[in-house]
Amino acid sequence: MIKLNFHPTGRHFLQIPGPSPVPDRVLRAISLPTIDHRGPEFAGLGRKVIDGMQVIFKTKQPVIIYPASGTGAWEAALVNTLSPGDHVLMYETGHFAFLWNKLATRLGLKTEVLSFQGHDDQLPDLAGWRRGIQANQIHDRLVQDREHRIKAVCVVHNETSTGVTSDIPAVRKAIDDAKHPALLMVDTISALGSADYRHDGWGVDVAMAASQKGLMLPPGLGFNALSARAIEASKTAKMPRAFWAWDEVIEMNKGGYWPTTSSTNLLYGLSEVIDMFAAEGLDAVFARHQRWAAGVRAAVTAWGLPIQCADPSVYSPILTGVITPVGVDADEIRKLIQHRFDLSLGTGLGKVKGRMFRIGHLGDSNDLALLATLAGVEMGLKLSGVKLAGSGVQAGMDYFSNGS
Ligand code: PLP
Repeated sequence: MIKLNFHPTGRHFLQIPGPSPVPDRVLRAISLPTIDHRGPEFAGLGRKVIDGMQVIFKTKQPVIIYPASGTGAWEAALVNTLSPGDHVLMYETGHFAFLWNKLATRLGLKTEVLSFQGHDDQLPDLAGWRRGIQANQIHDRLVQDREHRIKAVCVVHNETSTGVTSDIPAVRKAIDDAKHPALLMVDTISALGSADYRHDGWGVDVAMAASQKGLMLPPGLGFNALSARAIEASKTAKMPRAFWAWDEVIEMNKGGYWPTTSSTNLLYGLSEVIDMFAAEGLDAVFARHQRWAAGVRAAVTAWGLPIQCADPSVYSPILTGVITPVGVDADEIRKLIQHRFDLSLGTGLGKVKGRMFRIGHLGDSNDLALLATLAGVEMGLKLSGVKLAGSGVQAGMDYFSNGS
């Protein structure tokens, strides 16, 4: 029998880039008694979380909340706006961009995937998984598409498999400069709530998010933020859809309800997160993540290990990818650290499996939790025989003890 209640003493260190640690205050809110999702009290909760998510997405347009993971939000974005056989332009920045392409292909869309074409001296085969989107490639491809066959440009804001972000306004500009009508779809699944995201300001048509990352909730909620153009497109889009269909949700949401049974208790948690973000201020939340990320990078640099992201202008505030030396299996180090120190790190996904691990710095955390994480990683690296240039923990302490 699986012992689900097994826990060593003390808190588990959940340092994967989502699901992220959930604040106690949010867990307590989730534990409130479940109410009638068609009853009078529920409408207030429903409206509050929809309005609150518009603030977090920075949009005045509808936000759809599904009882789903991020993959559901991906599918919802595509099936609501496109028709079978439509052409979609994607950009491979890592494993999640790859998976979104796979999903689109399975839905019957014709995808074309761009990727970074430059070189990387340090890690030649990972060149494209170390950098953000090069918006000029999107521009050039759209200019060639004179018949406007491409119906959507799909990009990932924070590539969770690599620790690299992409410049979404640059992608918007590339589409506008090419005078192309394609919809802009942005996966901000691991960025929303941790990194600045401006749905209306950046001119995004459909954005996807999920509860278990920057929103500091357990997995189980998926989001679509829409634009007027996306809603217009949904009126003629022919992809089959029922559960994911926006129209019924938008209609029912006006009164604070959903057409299907809502994740009531997760919505209690979401309501609490909305209050927490409002009290702290979104800019302070983003600055906190930038600071944590810089402290973690100072440690990785002191160890003398390469950070997977090769372009400092697009370092992720959410996670840091750490490349292990040739011949050292990153997954063995991860397993050892989990076993010895009860610390979970993110595994290398797809083509970086065994070559890197990911340190998440999102969710309910603070300087000392991150220093303990760095200590666990440093001990694990040493126990695995990895030669370190210096102490990452010391570098982290120096970073976190300086300034505010
Ligand atoms: N997109 C990104 C950037 C992600 O990080 C993830 C999950 O980690 C997904 C999509 C898929 O979301 P889920 O696993 O919640 O279905």
